[in-house]
Amino acid sequence: MMGKTHFAFGLLIALLLYKFSSFPITIITGIFLLAGALFPDIDHGTSFFGKKTKILSMIFKHRGFIHSVFMLIIMDLLIWLIKTDIYCIAAFSIGFISHMILDFLNPNGLKPFFIGKKIKGNLKAGEWPDLVLFSCFLFIIIFLVLF
Ligand SMILES: [Zn+2]
Repeated sequence: MMGKTHFAFGLLIALLLYKFSSFPITIITGIFLLAGALFPDIDHGTSFFGKKTKILSMIFKHRGFIHSVFMLIIMDLLIWLIKTDIYCIAAFSIGFISHMILDFLNPNGLKPFFIGKKIKGNLKAGEWPDLVLFSCFLFIIIFLVLF
């Protein structure tokens, strides 16, 4: 999916949690959730985080290890070391998993546990279904903000 689709899906989840759950969505946990939603594409040289860390896209295959549960665990441990806050870790994890869910729809798919079976769909990134998905997320976001 396009970065903006991942961002919109993360924002939508944050809004749903804010409005309909007791999960504490604050500016900080919201940033962690959105960072988690964008983080896995750090292995892609043209992505939001990838542009700043091009070396990672040279080392890691796109939708490989960095898009796996193992990377999520590593990131959660790093966040725990930097900021011992279970809600920040949970928010990052929710965002990261939202990214994986959208990437499961892609024809290239991904292996959530790095090894084993690939989960894939037939929704190509950057093409009209991606744009439709983005538009739907945006529409629901606007609805949630207004009502
Ligand atoms: Zn991705």
